[in-house]
Amino acid sequence: MYDVIIIGAGTAGLTAAIYTQRAGKTALLLEAKAYGGQIVNTPDIENYPGYKHISGFEFATNLYEQAKELGAELKYERALSIRDGGNERKTVVTNAGEYECKAVILATGAKNRPLGLENEQKMVGSGVSYCATCDGMFFRGREVAVVGGGNTAIEDASFLSNYCSKVYLIHRRDAFRGDAKGVKALKEKDNVEFVLNSAVTKLLGKFRLEGIEVTNKLDGSVKTIPVAGLFVAVGQQPENESFSDVVSLDEGGYIAAGEDCRTGTEGIFTAGDCRTKTVRQLTTAAADGAVAALAACKS
Ligand code: NAP
Repeated sequence: MYDVIIIGAGTAGLTAAIYTQRAGKTALLLEAKAYGGQIVNTPDIENYPGYKHISGFEFATNLYEQAKELGAELKYERALSIRDGGNERKTVVTNAGEYECKAVILATGAKNRPLGLENEQKMVGSGVSYCATCDGMFFRGREVAVVGGGNTAIEDASFLSNYCSKVYLIHRRDAFRGDAKGVKALKEKDNVEFVLNSAVTKLLGKFRLEGIEVTNKLDGSVKTIPVAGLFVAVGQQPENESFSDVVSLDEGGYIAAGEDCRTGTEGIFTAGDCRTKTVRQLTTAAADGAVAALAACKS
């Protein structure tokens, strides 16, 4: 029996594991893919206190090693459900087995939101990508487009502009959600063109992406932009349905919980991007991990 099982080994989950182990309790992390979560795809983190610059991969690796050295265990298994046996008795069912614990922390993060266009999923790997740092190199010297107006889109456009001959940044409004500093830096680049108040409405090409159809939302005009790659960076969506029988979800599918990371179900806590919150940042994910772990260790 573990003291705490943490579902998800992103920034929130790994921080929760560090705090659990330092409280003298045992933590098991369950992760379906790779440790680190979304941040591993960020080339350069500039806004985590104490680091002027660090890559997402290095940041995630440091966190993982810190948790491991403190004794946290990590199993690469997908958590499928939780059986709530009441106070201090929870069973987490995975694709490979069942694990008992006193408390659970849900730190499931969020996954990339698709645009929902015809052929979008078919073209993943053939021109459509959700990760500029993973796939950007394949488009060296080519023309590409990034869609979105948050920090991910801004960072992706900046990263791609270093390798690609031209980057179109397509956003559905004319105001950006991402940091003004990043937008300003992009405006100064000769090979970045802003296409604002516009939506990608069609993917062109039979087997590979050959271009995109873009519709201006203000005047309805439609134009074709020939690009070899489209990087979709329109935010994330949560994946919490498997746990909706033991915790409440809000209308967006996020786990309903406040700053205390308590779900309303005794012994089940939540941390990071998967919970209802207004600011989804590395700092807030790490803060949640600490809050949830300390609460779980006391429960
Ligand atoms: P985000 O901030 O939620 O931005 C998503 C963007 O996509 C918004 O501009 C949104 O437009 C647009 N969008 C959403 N759905 C769309 C659709 N169906 N079609 C077209 N456009 C759509 O997502 P994010 O950029 O992935 O960032 C997620 C969180 O991580 C944020 O808190 C961000 O600050 C953080 N982050 C931080 C760093 C860093 O600190 N280094 C790096 C990356 C991300 P509207 O603006 O019109 O809603």
